Amino acid sequence: MRIIRHLGPTGPACAALMPDGSAREISGDLFGAYRVTNRTVVPGKILAPVAPPNILAIGLNYRRHAEEGGKGVPERPMLFLKSTGCVQNPGDPIELPRKLASSEVDYECELAVVIGRTCKNATRERALDFVLGYTAANDVSARDWQMRLGGGQFCQGKSFDTFCPLGPVLVTRDEIDDPNKLSIRTILNGQVMQDWNTSDMVFDVPALIEFLSASKTLLPGTVILTGTPHGVGVARKPPVFLKAGDTVTIEIEGIGALTNPVVEERP
Ligand code: MG
Repeated sequence: MRIIRHLGPTGPACAALMPDGSAREISGDLFGAYRVTNRTVVPGKILAPVAPPNILAIGLNYRRHAEEGGKGVPERPMLFLKSTGCVQNPGDPIELPRKLASSEVDYECELAVVIGRTCKNATRERALDFVLGYTAANDVSARDWQMRLGGGQFCQGKSFDTFCPLGPVLVTRDEIDDPNKLSIRTILNGQVMQDWNTSDMVFDVPALIEFLSASKTLLPGTVILTGTPHGVGVARKPPVFLKAGDTVTIEIEGIGALTNPVVEERP
């Protein structure tokens, strides 16, 4: 099923996208019992498909990307956190920070895994049973704050407001045969900047769930950002950073396209 979250007359609501292009209201709780009703809805403003209780992100998880950064392939998943407040809706702007300024804001296309039910100590074999579905993410990163000004922590550079666009569609796990066989791309102003496949992950989706749930309970709605392939702006020669007026699209096979404009932070 392809699920969207939108702003309905009484607040955020979920709907299923039907093959004929219509949308049907979903009743119940995506993280409990829910069903697709017969009621057709005209979606309002499209929201990020989930309001996560946690965003767990993995760095250097594609081989070619680990090599382009000169860091080498990690021995175990490299976890960092993004603030849940930095989630941005599809179509809404990525804001370039101007008070705590950055001149090195970068894109990262990522497959986002949405956890469907409470998960602790999952085995690799059972790991995907805990997945509700998948969506597209842009792990926007202020490289200056990530690498040099953040006290050795990624959190600051990864967690500015608007730095986690998600969506627009949550595709349930039954529709994705193998999350590690999907093409994934970033398109900046019409130019392809990243173009690879999730098969290049160092730690695949089951391995990440097994690893993460071994130390912490994964709550329903948790988003796992699974890393980005090579081609990020900071590693290009010369580097390419986002600027006001840009448009960034993240495309993932079988999931869809997530597009956001780039603007200066509003005063
Ligand atoms: Mg990333």
